[in-house]
Amino acid sequence: MIPRGKSGRCKVRSNKHSVLETPYGNLSSAHVDPVEKKPLFHFHPSTYVYSIGGWGCNLSCKNCQNYQISQVWVVNSAVTSPEEICKRALSKKCGGIAFTYNEPTTWYEFMEDTAAEARKNGLYTVCVTNGYIQKEPMSELLEYIDAFNIDVKSFSDQFYQKYCGGTLKPVLESVELAAEHKNHIELTYLVIPGINDSHEELEAFSNWVRSINERIPVHFNAFHPCFELRHLDSTPISTLLNARQIGYDQGLKYVYLGNVNYPSAGDTVCPRCGRVAVRRVSTRAQKTDGICRFCNEELNMVVNPKDNTSVRFWEYE
Ligand code: SF4
Repeated sequence: MIPRGKSGRCKVRSNKHSVLETPYGNLSSAHVDPVEKKPLFHFHPSTYVYSIGGWGCNLSCKNCQNYQISQVWVVNSAVTSPEEICKRALSKKCGGIAFTYNEPTTWYEFMEDTAAEARKNGLYTVCVTNGYIQKEPMSELLEYIDAFNIDVKSFSDQFYQKYCGGTLKPVLESVELAAEHKNHIELTYLVIPGINDSHEELEAFSNWVRSINERIPVHFNAFHPCFELRHLDSTPISTLLNARQIGYDQGLKYVYLGNVNYPSAGDTVCPRCGRVAVRRVSTRAQKTDGICRFCNEELNMVVNPKDNTSVRFWEYE
């Protein structure tokens, strides 16, 4: 319950004279990004996505890279509409719209309306979220949004309490719900050295993913010092390679390393023949139709043939 004259912890919703107020359409940021930057490697590869962010967050991660927009009160920025967002996405030749940068569920209503409008316009939608949301609104969102990248920041409730001001269970439930609903999902686990990188924790996380669906792509991303964790070191490549190996050892089919410049970090290795089915360097991906070009294995990718008109495909041979 938000007291009169106050805002909730997300700094977005407020109780004004006993009426719950929610800003609508206040953007903090808008960019055209490669969809791989979300990161989504198995969803409309190589398309551009019109990416928008708002303000606020329902967590308070000590390592938040976007704390200037997630940990502040809503700024009176220009207000836009779902129709305007779709118009901009189409005019910039984007394949879809991504709700990202801060926590999009803090501007849930605008996201939902924009997603409905996007569908009418033939645009896909992506939600990059911390997954810290109750089952009922998550279920509703699953009807509107095509793909999710969900952060699982650790596999420890203590971590969530100490470093994010939240709890682990709702996040796991969101992932399970999205998988049940058959939305496209990819997971990101930011590996922070000495904090959430133990063999046991990475193994437990990977095991849990496999128990849901071994074909869910997992991104183990490198941490770089920021916000309240500036005193820590960046994640060494050896730690990321170890995480990737643990993921594979636990039976995961698609494991990627992110925020790091390392050969093979973003390559899709075919789980059947073991060859590199899709090579990636940073956010540039080799052309793919979602099938391994060596053995025809289906790679759990959402590919629209129209995406092949994209200018971003990398003709790598
Ligand atoms: S959930 Fe994401 S946006 Fe929110 S504080 Fe954590 S890192 Fe920042």
